[in-house]
Amino acid sequence: MGKYADFYRRSMDDKAGFWAEQARLINWHTPFEQVLDDSRLPFARWFVGGRTNLCHNAVDRHLATRPEQKAIVYLSTETGQEGSYTYRELHAEVNRVAAMIAGLGVSKGDRVIIYMPMVPEAVFAMLACARIGAIHSVVFGGFAANSLATRIDDAKPKLLITSDAGMRGGKTILYKPLVDEALNLAQNPPDKVLLFRRGLDADLAWNAGRDVDWAELRARHLDAEVEPVWLESSEPSYILYTSGTTGKPKGVQRNTGGYAVALAASMKHIYTGRAGETMFTSSDIGWVVGHSYIVYGPLIAGMTTIVYEGLPIRPDPGIWWKIVQDNRVNVMFTSPTAVRVLKKQPPEYLHKYDVSSLRSLYLAGEPLDEPTARWIADALGVNIIDNYWQTETGWPILSSVPAIEDLPRKFGSPGFAVYGFDLKLLDERTGQEVGADEKGVLTAIPPLPPGCLTTVWGDDKRFVNTYFSNFENVLAYSTFDWATRDADGYYFILGRTDDVINVAGHRLGTREIEEAVSAHPAIAEVAVVGVHDEVKGQAVMAFAVVKDAGRTATPEATAALEKEVMATVDRELGAIARPARVCFVTLLPKTRSGKLLRRSIQALAEGREAGDLTTLDDPSALEQIKAAVAAWKSGKA
Ligand code: AMP
Repeated sequence: MGKYADFYRRSMDDKAGFWAEQARLINWHTPFEQVLDDSRLPFARWFVGGRTNLCHNAVDRHLATRPEQKAIVYLSTETGQEGSYTYRELHAEVNRVAAMIAGLGVSKGDRVIIYMPMVPEAVFAMLACARIGAIHSVVFGGFAANSLATRIDDAKPKLLITSDAGMRGGKTILYKPLVDEALNLAQNPPDKVLLFRRGLDADLAWNAGRDVDWAELRARHLDAEVEPVWLESSEPSYILYTSGTTGKPKGVQRNTGGYAVALAASMKHIYTGRAGETMFTSSDIGWVVGHSYIVYGPLIAGMTTIVYEGLPIRPDPGIWWKIVQDNRVNVMFTSPTAVRVLKKQPPEYLHKYDVSSLRSLYLAGEPLDEPTARWIADALGVNIIDNYWQTETGWPILSSVPAIEDLPRKFGSPGFAVYGFDLKLLDERTGQEVGADEKGVLTAIPPLPPGCLTTVWGDDKRFVNTYFSNFENVLAYSTFDWATRDADGYYFILGRTDDVINVAGHRLGTREIEEAVSAHPAIAEVAVVGVHDEVKGQAVMAFAVVKDAGRTATPEATAALEKEVMATVDRELGAIARPARVCFVTLLPKTRSGKLLRRSIQALAEGREAGDLTTLDDPSALEQIKAAVAAWKSGKA
């Protein structure tokens, strides 16, 4: 057997021994009494009785060995600001923020929503929450007031931390008016809003009883020292909302000890990041990649992490490689979409900089197509490692594990089962395992390894029903992805089994977008599907029925309505969910029992056959979709 095969086998056959060994990668305040309690599956508890703290492991632990090493390098090509924080300085900042939020009444178990752009203060806020045992929920800055309000109502935070504005592509996006609107919409708004001013909003509206100024409060806590609160391993560290098939996002709940161990192990075995080295992950703290591999993973590993606000092509398409050169980046992590964007740029930008420090580029979040993988592999001359995972798992399910054994990679495959994941490809109907090269639903047999979601916030039933109740005779976690596995154990992802769309690596629920489109008063009904997009992987496309045919009587009226609908989605959910096109029809394809035939609509929109139509109610509905797609493709609509 090969080295990795051995390693993997041990993670299956001797879970307790395997994970007890990995647990030594972090500090424990109180040792655990039991590695795994799997007496209540699918609920699992790792490192039972052990007490630790994420912030201690990410910050304090390094004070003795690397106090003057940079922990965070910050740069914004939007504002031109640059800077860095050593571990000693990061420790001081995090203590200040911990004291600030504790002074605002936040304590262990309280939720704190963080709605901030990519500034170091956002990282301080996350770490400060972790330090005092408060549960953070970071909401991506691209989400609109309504989305923010939904998350506020679910998490019921004691405090919301925000900033006056973010910037993207040279445009200022004001956060504060959006936060004010969200707090008006929410049923359970927090009492206090802590606001970090970047000086980007000249007309900032101040709510005197509620809003607290970050800088003023910080000035009162300059010498603060706040002891970490030692959490039992299974106590929650954060909630991160993600989209599914319903209109209501799910709060993925993460624990403390298991997450810290899983990240420390993944930094060592998968990402090969060593203390003293530098990691550049071009995501946003609002996504799981940002949580695991901008903030917690690299810091737990004692690395320098790059916090970058900006696009990959501004001021020019060489900016990332300049960042790599200037900071001697060793490990980089980005999305296939970003690489496809760069692929469209003149190639000389890649060769302008010295990227010899770079060992590997990791790509995740969406399928990596072979031409893109080949292009970046040739251009950079480093290892390109596709890895597959989800908000729910917090770290890779499928990957190469190069630090254990650098097995060959196959184009089009994110690799093989990662240690700890007992993966099975199951037949959708029978729950039986499928054979080599046969398509099945990718599932993991519980217990899920450390670091994965432990439940859905406030809703254990939803956790079990959504993820573990998809097969009759077998308790299996469904990833909701189709996959095949070849005879060598390499997996190939074939797309989602549910109605989730993946735009530029970000997950969007069709139901959510449909609800947002329907918020426009002229819309009677709508179907939203994801269609193939050359750069973003998928694009959102909406087919809508209007209440009053007059609204689409002329091409001008139709175009105006389409714009209005897009603006409605921007307002309801955020611009990331905005449909690329809204096509108007008088009828949607449905089954005789009234269920939308989304799959058929999607197939037609992608120029494929509509599939099984035996249950279709009115065939003319499909003709309308075909006509709308044809008109769109010929550029007439
Ligand atoms: P999210 O939770 O938003 O990160 O989305 C997770 C989903 O993105 C997965 O269920 C897959 O559908 C898709 N995904 C993530 N990584 C990959 C990958 N390397 N290859 C193919 N699909 C991926």
